[in-house]
Amino acid sequence: MIPYGKQDINQQDIDAVIDVLRSDFLTQGPKVPLFEKTINSVCSSQYAVAVNSATSALHIACLALGVSQGDLVWTTPITFVASANCALYCGASIDFVDIDPDTYNLCPIQLEKKLQQTKQLKQPLPKVVIPVHLCGQSCDMQAIHQLSLEYGFSIIEDASHAIGGKYQEHPIGNCLYSDITIFSFHPVKIITTAEGGAATTNDPQLADKMALFRSHGITRDENLMTEPSHGAWYYQQIELGFNYRMTELQAALGISQLSRINEFISERIQLAEVYNQQLKKLPITLPKQLKESSSSWHLYVIQLQLGKITKTHQQVFEQLRSSGIGVNLHYIPVHIQPYYQELGFKPGQFPVAESYYRQAISLPLFHHMSEKQFKRVVNTLTDILE
Ligand SMILES: *Cc1c(COP(=O)(O)O)cnc(C)c1O
Repeated sequence: MIPYGKQDINQQDIDAVIDVLRSDFLTQGPKVPLFEKTINSVCSSQYAVAVNSATSALHIACLALGVSQGDLVWTTPITFVASANCALYCGASIDFVDIDPDTYNLCPIQLEKKLQQTKQLKQPLPKVVIPVHLCGQSCDMQAIHQLSLEYGFSIIEDASHAIGGKYQEHPIGNCLYSDITIFSFHPVKIITTAEGGAATTNDPQLADKMALFRSHGITRDENLMTEPSHGAWYYQQIELGFNYRMTELQAALGISQLSRINEFISERIQLAEVYNQQLKKLPITLPKQLKESSSSWHLYVIQLQLGKITKTHQQVFEQLRSSGIGVNLHYIPVHIQPYYQELGFKPGQFPVAESYYRQAISLPLFHHMSEKQFKRVVNTLTDILE
């Protein structure tokens, strides 16, 4: 089966991890701060907090922004469940904003409409909005940021798909239009640390808070303490935090992987261009790109033009799978998940997202995908659709 995505581990990555195994620190050593510094240089951000997953990063980002019971967080229905779950972890409520039919990202026009209506009805406005850079293409961050100034919400960019991507010529993660950006380093994403994630910000207070929440809410920084130190052993717990730390092994792998980010991204861009060329005659909609965005191409999503073919979405999907093409679907709209329907959401509430879901298929795209594999995907899809 040709997978839809997969990691690329080379000898340098392996050596980096083995060096850590032979060193004094398996956790809480020098590699995590060095990985954070490397993330800052790739993302043009001032602070980075590395954690054990993007899910943890979303959680501590919400906590650092003060999300708690009674608060409201908005995100897109076309995302992995973690982008919504983080609000619920904090005791807050979640709601969704429908997607743009061209980019499949959270739609700034729908966002504005929903904000206006909510304000008119004197209902609570969101404390945080979480736009997700689906497939690696940035949301229209300038428009979303403009609305945040008008309506007073904070922004967490879920850039799990998007490290190495750009928006208006700047690296995603620079937080020019947001408070915090989070990344995932799960093996299917652009770079990997096995499990892992990070949050970037330019606000030193948010960075300090996220670092606290990452490690039990404990500090050894006297400036943050409520009373003088009792001695050299002393630390204080000043928040209810977690153990969301990244290990030294993961950080070393991350540093090594990040040294190849340009290579990863340029190959993905190239593969996407070849897909665009070779698939353009098929009865499918190819991924559209905003001109101010340069995608990292985590995913290559096509939409079937169901009116032009005799097969159903499910038939095409299953024929691809049974022909050894490991296609996938990103994502099932979060609001129709049973857990979310239990909270009161209903099918039909976000029609653009639901229509996307009925037609979308993610094709294989990964580093070192061979020409033979690539041809097999194109030929199989062409045969099935003809
Ligand atoms: C993968 C992913 C996450 C969760 O990442 P983990 O590192 O597995 O916790 C969150 N949001 C989006 C959009 C993702 O794709």
